[in-house]
Amino acid sequence: MQNLIDQLGQLLGQQFVLTDDQEKSPYLTDWRKRFTGKALAVVLPKTTTEVAQIVQLCAAANVAIVPQGGNTSFCGGATPDDSGKQILLSLKRMNQIRELDVANQTITLEAGCILQSVQEKAAAQDFLFPLSLGAEGSCMIGGNLATNAGGTNVLRYGNTRDLCLGLEVVTAKGEIWDGMKGLRKDNTGYDLRDLFIGSEGTLGIITAAVMKLYPLPISQWTTLVATQDIASTIALLNLFQKRATSLLTGFEMMTQESLELNEKHFPQMANPLKGKPAYTVLIELSDHESEEHVRQLLEAILEEAFKANIVTDAVIASNLSQANSFWQMREHITLAQAEEGANLKNDITIPLSSLDRFIQETDHLMRTQYPGVRIINFGHLGDGNLHYNIAPPLGVDAKSFNVDHEKAIYALVNAQVERCKGSISAEHGIGQLKLGDLRDHKGVVAHDLMKALKAALDPQNILNPHKVVSI
Ligand SMILES: Cc1cc2nc3c(=O)[nH]c(=O)nc-3n(C[C@H](O)[C@H](O)[C@H](O)COP(=O)(O)OP(=O)(O)OC[C@H]3O[C@@H](n4cnc5c(N)ncnc54)[C@H](O)[C@@H]3O)c2cc1C
Repeated sequence: MQNLIDQLGQLLGQQFVLTDDQEKSPYLTDWRKRFTGKALAVVLPKTTTEVAQIVQLCAAANVAIVPQGGNTSFCGGATPDDSGKQILLSLKRMNQIRELDVANQTITLEAGCILQSVQEKAAAQDFLFPLSLGAEGSCMIGGNLATNAGGTNVLRYGNTRDLCLGLEVVTAKGEIWDGMKGLRKDNTGYDLRDLFIGSEGTLGIITAAVMKLYPLPISQWTTLVATQDIASTIALLNLFQKRATSLLTGFEMMTQESLELNEKHFPQMANPLKGKPAYTVLIELSDHESEEHVRQLLEAILEEAFKANIVTDAVIASNLSQANSFWQMREHITLAQAEEGANLKNDITIPLSSLDRFIQETDHLMRTQYPGVRIINFGHLGDGNLHYNIAPPLGVDAKSFNVDHEKAIYALVNAQVERCKGSISAEHGIGQLKLGDLRDHKGVVAHDLMKALKAALDPQNILNPHKVVSI
């Protein structure tokens, strides 16, 4: 192995091949501190050619590679195993924006660009790059593509897959596939781009991409609305979809229990709505017409909702800073959970027509079987996506609760998801966390096809092995 380290050092320069334990350590534990691995070395290439050469050297030495972007994965996708024999390849030095094409409305960028910097670069040219998620200050475009990240704007603009027009990928053989066309139509056989998106680093290493841009909205109005139950919340969503159509850019749901946890850890995040509503919904409308136009529309829809008795209270943000504070409230739930301690995360999608039934039945089963358990349920309700997270009863040690009940709780939620024809991973991916659940969830045929694809594209099994599927 020393030979490989020496070769990598000659290729990249010694300072970009980290072998010291202290230097490697930030790359080896995931954001939630749930998974920790070991690595032979952490390598930091600067160019696509260097990535290709690293893969060739590793393939010759039969050493596996774990690609990593911002290391914000919720399913241990970017954490190596504990053998100490894998190479962790961080894309963070590949952070150049290659081009912003105004006429084509696209941005061409390297995989290590931090999401927020891409949004800022686009906004500086009056464009919107709509991908937006709580980790945007750290996650990178390559990681977003590899996980097909979702976030808060999916309702209007789709997930990362929908925003991508072209990719550059280093294959398991160390070849460079140049698929960097910014085309909106291209029916020339199998769509390789779609294959690599969402493959979590198991089929190829994404080094660059061409992404879509949109005109920057000139006005946005954000409101917090109280509802009594999920049926009313879905009725409210449908009303907004019908009346605001494509102006509806956000529809996020937070339960009272989630917001109480928020307030416990971040007292400045108090809910401005009266009387601790069962559900608080954050709604955002964006428009390319005047502020007046969208504000009037928002007020008219809310009036209709009050008349129909589907909402009990509403506060419209009076300025940008209040609108930001509403979004902060939503984003801080994840951080509040991290402060509270380990919890069991479920990132699921349910068809909207089954959501009410799912929540009623699953809440009931959970509370009967695990009395006192806290259900921290919130999410991108407009997409049917719930973060249905389970925290132990107050006063119970989280680690021992999880050891005792983790398997059974995941099984309970997964069974409910199957009953409602949902998905066990809406946006976070499979990684190592859900590797064992995939076969049952996808079915044998789909799982075998996925294994066949992995075997065809990475026969040596050196790209992020034992994540998503094992061959
Ligand atoms: C506070 C917080 C909020 C979040 N909110 C959301 C949300 O709303 N929606 C959502 O979808 N996710 C969310 N996430 C999860 C996470 O941020 C996303 O999955 C994100 O897209 C991961 O990007 P990353 O750069 O951190 O990737 P990493 O964590 O570094 O890697 C993720 C996976 O992609 C692979 N990978 C990384 N880069 C490459 C590459 N260049 N080529 C090939 N494979 C690669 C890794 O091997 C790993 O399997 C959140 C996370 C946090 C911490």
